[in-house]
Amino acid sequence: MTEKQRRMTKQKKVILDILRSTTSHPTADWIYKEAKKILPNLSLGTVYRNLKNLKEEGKILELSYGSTCSRFDGNPENHYHCVCVECGRVMDVDMSVEKELDKKAEEALGCPIFYHRLEFYGLCPQCKKETKKAKMSG
Ligand code: ZN
Ligand code: MN
Repeated sequence: MTEKQRRMTKQKKVILDILRSTTSHPTADWIYKEAKKILPNLSLGTVYRNLKNLKEEGKILELSYGSTCSRFDGNPENHYHCVCVECGRVMDVDMSVEKELDKKAEEALGCPIFYHRLEFYGLCPQCKKETKKAKMSG
């Protein structure tokens, strides 16, 4: 292994470890700030490149939400998320993936379906509390 390859492997491992140690579905920026604590010479471009590679290798998930920047997930298995409409927090939803939906879509479309993504939109526990408080004082 060349020195360059060794460095690349190390960077990738650091990024993957950071992603696996959090359930917050962070942005590339956040990952960059965390990784820089371990690898001070790291650039944001390198973080993006490694995230792209990790995604292509099936080790992480990229969650994109239209115009806002992507978030990343260290859990590559398909699972559902809920986005807080107040603060934008992305939470895992602890329920099993409904394979039946793929079959239904397949029937409706007449084409093979491989998987589906599903996002719920609601309030996170923190924002739910604050909404309650606002209601009580208002
Ligand atoms: Zn919230
Ligand atoms: Mn997740």
